[in-house]
Amino acid sequence: MDFIERMPKIDLHNHLDGSLRPRTVIEIARDEGIELPTYDEKELMKYLSVGDNCESLVEYLEKFDLPLKCLQSEKAQRRVAKEAVEDAAKHNVKYIEVRFAPQLMTEKGMTCADVIRNVISGLLEGEKETGTIARAIVCCMRHHSDEKNLEVIRAASEFMYRGLGGVDLAGDEAHYPPQLFKRVFDEANKYGIPVTIHAGEAGGAENVRVAIEELGAVRIGHGIRINEDESVVNLVKERKIPLEICVTSNVQTKAAPSFEQHPVRKYFDLGLNVTVNTDNTTVSNTDMKRELNILKNKFGFSNSELMQLQMNAARAAFLDKPEKEKLLSELKNSFENII
Ligand SMILES: [Zn+2]
Repeated sequence: MDFIERMPKIDLHNHLDGSLRPRTVIEIARDEGIELPTYDEKELMKYLSVGDNCESLVEYLEKFDLPLKCLQSEKAQRRVAKEAVEDAAKHNVKYIEVRFAPQLMTEKGMTCADVIRNVISGLLEGEKETGTIARAIVCCMRHHSDEKNLEVIRAASEFMYRGLGGVDLAGDEAHYPPQLFKRVFDEANKYGIPVTIHAGEAGGAENVRVAIEELGAVRIGHGIRINEDESVVNLVKERKIPLEICVTSNVQTKAAPSFEQHPVRKYFDLGLNVTVNTDNTTVSNTDMKRELNILKNKFGFSNSELMQLQMNAARAAFLDKPEKEKLLSELKNSFENII
């Protein structure tokens, strides 16, 4: 086993609905009478993942339509959540935060709280089976009303310290800037739920500033466009805001024009709090091992720099203090063992 394979890893940014196993999609569809364009696993991957020709975040997001049809029952929600943890554990991920939008999983009449409960119980089953610790992040959606998003925040507040790590804002950033969601995230901050916001991905650096200063984000999903404004780079640096960077996904959504032009190396060298994550293992056809190999081969990250990224991620985890300290000390120990 090579170093990257053996290395304990942390994935802070993984979408449940973008990470379904094709076989599971087929089995759930058969079970629940959902029509699929094909029942062949390989063929189905074409509908579930983007190729090299993806043009934008909007096109990328279309790949979630089919999996979401298969995430409407309690059984499916629990199963998929458990499998997300199992899949992470296969690549030696020791801690994963899995995110999902409860409002997109209520077609059969469940409440947001029902959905969150189902996913968390699946995550905890996976945690029990594999030893990989798993927490949920629930996403508000940019195209949803404040009322719908406030419902998500209130439901999330019931699960604080009970499997829930934090809340997020996801969806079409280019058309819905973060300032529209001030009322929603004021509510999250009122409850003391940690906030991460997708920003600086399909929108500019200013969105990252607003997410931090107005929405109270303590982490940023991607944030790769901060280099468009030096004052935002400085803000992220001064506040040590963790950036949840997902390199493969960023190139696919055209947030970065190519691997060569992706700023992950530059941000790391600037001393920013960089973390590297999968985003969507199925849509992006990736996993943590693959992402770290890309960093090594395309960006020249050394083994010790890759370990540094895992420590950054562990420090940024939405865990309470004793849990985080335990995770950090386990990571340190296993790094010492594998060097
Ligand atoms: Zn994301």
